[in-house]
Amino acid sequence: MKCIGVLTSGGDAPGMNAVIWSTVRAAHARGMKVMGIEDGYQGLIERRVHELTAKELGNCLDLGGTCLGTARCKAMMTDEGRDEAATVVREFGIEGIIVCGGDGSYRGAQTLSERGIPTIGLPGTIDNDLAYTDFTIGYDTACNTATEAAMKIRDTMTSHHRFGIIEVMGRRCGDIALSVGLVVGADYILVPEIQYETPYDMENIAKRLTKLSSEGAKSGLIILAEGVEYDTPNRAEVLCDALVQRTGLEIRSTVLGHMQRGGYPSVRDRSYAIQMTERAVELLHKGIGNRVVGVRHNQIIDMDIVEALQMKQTINKDLYDLAQQLGSVR
Ligand code: ADP
Repeated sequence: MKCIGVLTSGGDAPGMNAVIWSTVRAAHARGMKVMGIEDGYQGLIERRVHELTAKELGNCLDLGGTCLGTARCKAMMTDEGRDEAATVVREFGIEGIIVCGGDGSYRGAQTLSERGIPTIGLPGTIDNDLAYTDFTIGYDTACNTATEAAMKIRDTMTSHHRFGIIEVMGRRCGDIALSVGLVVGADYILVPEIQYETPYDMENIAKRLTKLSSEGAKSGLIILAEGVEYDTPNRAEVLCDALVQRTGLEIRSTVLGHMQRGGYPSVRDRSYAIQMTERAVELLHKGIGNRVVGVRHNQIIDMDIVEALQMKQTINKDLYDLAQQLGSVR
């Protein structure tokens, strides 16, 4: 291949810029040029495509967000839109594409592969919800951001002798909640994977808080994954009201929201982004597409995109039990 494209798609994640930066460096090192596609598939269909240079990108690998922009594109959900996207790819002389995004973006990449365009998926999402890889790019930074925020909230909860509920992102995956809950020593962690198997019993959570309070705890933290009752609006408030009613304790809820998607990417996110991108460029250089890149047991891996999408995400149950056990002791 002489020319490849790169796009970022779906929800943004810290480390996407490191993917763009290293795509250009790794491709240029192999004598290939890189076309940057703005705002994911939407920009592709609208022909917002230009050649990227290392000079233009500067040190963008330091920065959060994505300098190419990202978007959700309805047209890609139709065959006409997918055909148009493939036509534009060929118009610009692009022979293969790196798609950095989540599972939705991967499905888009798969439809381009089906139209004869080699694509490689890189896991760019804070949610860590792609089962084939131990880590997604952006997850580590989001966990650090949410942890810092949780510690700040705990300061004020402690001063006022209150319990705090903190809702973190992750869509239908509880990994951010589990990581944050573990490292802040949360009193309770609620994640969707457990909820699907055995719905949380409000009475049990209330009993745990009442017990902690009767043992002398004047404050504490509950970490709630947004995936628990994903479709319920104001789920943190609903939980808060239910627990106040049952315990009589002073409880406040905070939804961390979009701050979790921003900020300088952590060392781990950048390092994985750079290493995974190197693999992606190498694959395209060899003419190989229809694959996704990830990390397993600290090794960079690649696998078939369809197989990867079929894998079912699970939570680390041992880690969850450990976090819950440690959080129940005062
Ligand atoms: P993420 O990639 O973070 O999971 P989305 O699920 O919103 O985010 O997907 C991002 C974009 O990928 C969508 O807006 C759409 O353009 C494209 N996409 C998602 N699913 C498909 C699909 N089945 N076929 C083609 N394109 C898709």
